[in-house]
Amino acid sequence: MPVTKPSPKSSTKKSQRGDLAPDRVAAILKALDEAYPDAECALTHRTPWELLVATILSAQCTDVRVNMVTPALFKRFPTPAAMAKASLPELEQLIRTTGFFHNKAKSIQGAARKIISDFGGQVPQTLAELITIPGAARKTANVVLGVSFGKAEGVVVDTHVFRIARRLGLAKGETAQKVEQELMQVVPQSRWIAFSHQLIHHGRQICDARKPKCDRCNLEQLCHSKDKTWQS
Ligand code: SF4
Repeated sequence: MPVTKPSPKSSTKKSQRGDLAPDRVAAILKALDEAYPDAECALTHRTPWELLVATILSAQCTDVRVNMVTPALFKRFPTPAAMAKASLPELEQLIRTTGFFHNKAKSIQGAARKIISDFGGQVPQTLAELITIPGAARKTANVVLGVSFGKAEGVVVDTHVFRIARRLGLAKGETAQKVEQELMQVVPQSRWIAFSHQLIHHGRQICDARKPKCDRCNLEQLCHSKDKTWQS
Protein backbone atom coordinates (compact mmCIF):
# COMPACT_ATOMS: atom_id res chain seq x y z
CA MET A 1 0.00 0.00 0.00
CA PRO A 2 1.50 3.38 -1.01
CA VAL A 3 2.46 5.68 1.80
CA THR A 4 1.18 9.20 1.40
CA LYS A 5 3.69 11.78 2.58
CA PRO A 6 2.16 14.67 4.53
CA SER A 7 2.17 17.90 2.55
CA PRO A 8 4.36 20.71 3.95
CA LYS A 9 1.14 22.52 4.85
CA SER A 10 -0.28 19.65 6.88
CA SER A 11 3.04 19.04 8.68
CA THR A 12 3.22 22.74 9.63
CA LYS A 13 -0.29 22.51 11.07
CA LYS A 14 0.69 19.38 12.95
CA SER A 15 3.80 21.05 14.42
CA GLN A 16 1.76 24.09 15.46
CA ARG A 17 -0.70 21.80 17.23
CA GLY A 18 2.25 20.00 18.86
CA ASP A 19 3.89 23.22 20.06
CA LEU A 20 0.62 24.44 21.53
CA ALA A 21 -0.54 21.13 22.99
CA PRO A 22 -1.90 21.79 26.49
CA ASP A 23 0.49 19.32 28.14
CA ARG A 24 3.51 20.95 26.45
CA VAL A 25 2.35 24.44 27.46
CA ALA A 26 1.75 23.18 31.03
CA ALA A 27 5.27 21.68 31.08
CA ILE A 28 6.76 25.03 29.99
CA LEU A 29 4.81 26.90 32.68
CA LYS A 30 5.90 24.36 35.30
CA ALA A 31 9.56 24.66 34.28
CA LEU A 32 9.32 28.46 34.47
CA ASP A 33 7.78 28.21 37.95
CA GLU A 34 10.61 25.95 39.04
CA ALA A 35 13.33 28.21 37.65
CA TYR A 36 11.81 31.56 38.63
CA PRO A 37 9.38 31.02 41.53
CA ASP A 38 9.62 34.63 42.74
CA ALA A 39 10.06 36.55 39.49
CA GLU A 40 8.81 40.09 39.81
CA CYS A 41 9.16 43.46 38.17
CA ALA A 42 12.73 44.76 38.53
CA LEU A 43 11.78 48.45 38.33
CA THR A 44 11.98 50.09 41.76
CA HIS A 45 8.75 51.92 42.61
CA ARG A 46 6.52 52.79 45.56
CA THR A 47 3.28 53.72 43.79
CA PRO A 48 1.45 53.01 40.50
CA TRP A 49 2.49 56.49 39.34
CA GLU A 50 6.19 55.76 39.96
CA LEU A 51 5.86 52.43 38.15
CA LEU A 52 4.19 54.09 35.19
CA VAL A 53 7.02 56.64 34.92
CA ALA A 54 9.73 54.00 35.41
CA THR A 55 8.18 51.81 32.71
CA ILE A 56 8.05 54.72 30.25
CA LEU A 57 11.73 55.43 31.02
CA SER A 58 12.67 51.76 30.52
CA ALA A 59 12.08 51.89 26.76
CA GLN A 60 15.44 51.13 25.06
CA CYS A 61 17.12 51.23 28.47
CA THR A 62 17.99 48.74 31.20
CA ASP A 63 15.97 48.54 34.41
CA VAL A 64 19.24 48.98 36.33
CA ARG A 65 19.84 52.33 34.67
CA VAL A 66 16.22 53.43 35.26
CA ASN A 67 16.55 52.50 38.94
CA MET A 68 19.60 54.76 39.16
CA VAL A 69 17.65 57.72 37.80
CA THR A 70 14.24 57.48 39.46
CA PRO A 71 15.15 58.21 43.13
CA ALA A 72 16.34 61.74 42.30
CA LEU A 73 13.51 62.24 39.81
CA PHE A 74 10.80 61.33 42.34
CA LYS A 75 12.51 63.31 45.09
CA ARG A 76 12.36 66.42 42.91
CA PHE A 77 8.88 65.72 41.44
CA PRO A 78 7.09 63.32 43.80
CA THR A 79 3.55 63.47 42.37
CA PRO A 80 1.78 63.82 39.00
CA ALA A 81 0.86 67.39 40.02
CA ALA A 82 4.53 68.28 40.60
CA MET A 83 5.64 66.56 37.38
CA ALA A 84 2.93 68.34 35.39
CA LYS A 85 4.43 71.70 36.33
CA ALA A 86 8.09 70.73 35.95
CA SER A 87 10.38 72.62 33.62
CA LEU A 88 11.07 70.42 30.62
CA PRO A 89 14.84 71.13 30.54
CA GLU A 90 15.16 70.17 34.21
CA LEU A 91 13.15 67.00 33.59
CA GLU A 92 15.34 66.14 30.63
CA GLN A 93 18.46 66.61 32.68
CA LEU A 94 17.21 64.28 35.41
CA ILE A 95 16.43 61.45 32.97
CA ARG A 96 19.17 62.12 30.41
CA THR A 97 21.08 58.87 30.98
CA THR A 98 18.06 56.70 30.10
CA GLY A 99 18.38 57.78 26.45
CA PHE A 100 15.76 59.37 24.15
CA PHE A 101 15.37 61.88 26.95
CA HIS A 102 13.62 64.61 24.90
CA ASN A 103 10.76 62.27 24.03
CA LYS A 104 10.69 60.58 27.41
CA ALA A 105 10.53 63.93 29.25
CA LYS A 106 7.60 64.99 27.06
CA SER A 107 5.90 61.63 27.67
CA ILE A 108 6.19 61.63 31.44
CA GLN A 109 5.08 65.25 31.69
CA GLY A 110 2.22 64.50 29.26
CA ALA A 111 1.31 61.47 31.37
CA ALA A 112 1.25 63.60 34.53
CA ARG A 113 -0.98 66.21 32.89
CA LYS A 114 -3.36 63.58 31.49
CA ILE A 115 -3.66 61.88 34.89
CA ILE A 116 -4.46 65.23 36.52
CA SER A 117 -6.92 66.36 33.86
CA ASP A 118 -8.74 63.10 33.08
CA PHE A 119 -8.26 60.75 36.02
CA GLY A 120 -8.39 62.92 39.14
CA GLY A 121 -4.67 62.59 39.80
CA GLN A 122 -4.82 58.77 40.09
CA VAL A 123 -3.35 56.22 37.67
CA PRO A 124 -6.37 54.53 36.04
CA GLN A 125 -6.91 50.80 36.45
CA THR A 126 -8.13 49.72 33.00
CA LEU A 127 -6.21 49.00 29.84
CA ALA A 128 -8.55 51.18 27.78
CA GLU A 129 -7.82 54.20 29.99
CA LEU A 130 -4.11 53.54 30.46
CA ILE A 131 -3.38 53.45 26.74
CA THR A 132 -4.73 57.00 26.38
CA ILE A 133 -1.81 58.25 28.52
CA PRO A 134 1.15 59.72 26.61
CA GLY A 135 4.04 57.26 26.46
CA ALA A 136 1.91 54.32 27.66
CA ALA A 137 1.25 51.77 24.95
CA ARG A 138 -0.07 48.26 25.67
CA LYS A 139 3.19 46.99 27.15
CA THR A 140 3.42 49.79 29.71
CA ALA A 141 -0.30 49.52 30.47
CA ASN A 142 -0.02 45.76 31.05
CA VAL A 143 2.99 46.24 33.35
CA VAL A 144 1.14 48.78 35.52
CA LEU A 145 -2.10 46.77 35.57
CA GLY A 146 -0.35 43.53 36.49
CA VAL A 147 2.23 44.78 38.97
CA SER A 148 0.36 47.60 40.71
CA PHE A 149 -3.21 46.34 40.53
CA GLY A 150 -2.88 42.56 40.05
CA LYS A 151 -5.05 42.77 36.92
CA ALA A 152 -4.38 40.64 33.85
CA GLU A 153 -6.04 42.29 30.87
CA GLY A 154 -3.18 41.33 28.56
CA VAL A 155 0.31 39.85 28.52
CA VAL A 156 3.39 42.09 28.79
CA VAL A 157 5.38 41.54 25.61
CA ASP A 158 8.78 43.20 25.82
CA THR A 159 11.82 42.22 23.80
CA HIS A 160 12.52 39.14 25.98
CA VAL A 161 8.94 37.84 25.96
CA PHE A 162 8.71 38.41 22.20
CA ARG A 163 11.93 36.49 21.50
CA ILE A 164 11.43 33.58 23.90
CA ALA A 165 7.74 33.02 23.11
CA ARG A 166 8.76 32.61 19.47
CA ARG A 167 11.76 30.42 20.29
CA LEU A 168 9.51 28.13 22.33
CA GLY A 169 6.95 28.00 19.51
CA LEU A 170 4.23 29.57 21.68
CA ALA A 171 3.79 32.38 19.17
CA LYS A 172 4.78 33.10 15.60
CA GLY A 173 3.65 36.71 15.14
CA GLU A 174 6.01 39.32 13.74
CA THR A 175 4.83 42.10 16.05
CA ALA A 176 4.47 42.44 19.82
CA GLN A 177 0.72 42.91 19.39
CA LYS A 178 0.37 39.64 17.44
CA VAL A 179 2.55 37.71 19.90
CA GLU A 180 0.48 39.07 22.79
CA GLN A 181 -2.76 37.91 21.13
CA GLU A 182 -1.28 34.44 20.56
CA LEU A 183 -0.04 34.17 24.15
CA MET A 184 -3.45 35.23 25.45
CA GLN A 185 -4.91 32.23 23.59
CA VAL A 186 -2.40 29.67 24.80
CA VAL A 187 -1.42 30.72 28.35
CA PRO A 188 -4.14 30.59 31.05
CA GLN A 189 -5.15 34.09 32.14
CA SER A 190 -4.32 33.26 35.75
CA ARG A 191 -0.68 32.90 34.64
CA TRP A 192 -0.32 35.98 32.42
CA ILE A 193 1.30 38.25 35.02
CA ALA A 194 3.83 35.73 36.37
CA PHE A 195 4.52 34.28 32.91
CA SER A 196 5.85 37.54 31.49
CA HIS A 197 7.99 38.27 34.56
CA GLN A 198 9.43 34.76 34.32
CA LEU A 199 10.24 35.08 30.59
CA ILE A 200 11.88 38.46 31.21
CA HIS A 201 14.10 36.90 33.90
CA HIS A 202 14.81 33.93 31.62
CA GLY A 203 15.80 36.30 28.81
CA ARG A 204 18.16 38.24 31.06
CA GLN A 205 19.78 35.22 32.70
CA ILE A 206 19.71 32.37 30.17
CA CYS A 207 17.91 32.88 26.87
CA ASP A 208 20.07 35.70 25.62
CA ALA A 209 19.23 37.22 22.24
CA ARG A 210 22.61 36.54 20.66
CA LYS A 211 23.94 33.47 22.45
CA PRO A 212 21.38 31.62 24.57
CA LYS A 213 22.87 29.46 27.32
CA CYS A 214 20.92 26.36 26.31
CA ASP A 215 23.22 24.05 28.30
CA ARG A 216 21.92 25.76 31.46
CA CYS A 217 18.26 26.02 30.41
CA ASN A 218 15.65 23.90 32.16
CA LEU A 219 13.35 24.31 29.14
CA GLU A 220 15.90 22.83 26.76
CA GLN A 221 14.09 19.55 26.17
CA LEU A 222 10.89 21.45 25.39
CA CYS A 223 12.57 23.91 23.04
CA HIS A 224 12.97 23.28 19.31
CA SER A 225 14.34 26.70 18.39
CA LYS A 226 16.81 26.97 15.53
CA ASP A 227 18.70 29.45 17.74
CA LYS A 228 19.68 26.74 20.24
CA THR A 229 23.39 26.60 21.01
CA TRP A 230 23.30 23.19 22.68
CA GLN A 231 21.18 20.05 22.32
CA SER A 232 20.74 17.34 24.95
S1 SF4 B 1 16.89 25.95 25.03
FE1 SF4 B 1 18.07 27.77 24.49
S2 SF4 B 1 16.84 28.88 22.97
FE2 SF4 B 1 15.48 27.38 24.00
S3 SF4 B 1 14.53 28.54 25.70
FE3 SF4 B 1 16.38 27.54 26.53
S4 SF4 B 1 18.03 29.07 26.33
FE4 SF4 B 1 16.32 29.70 25.00
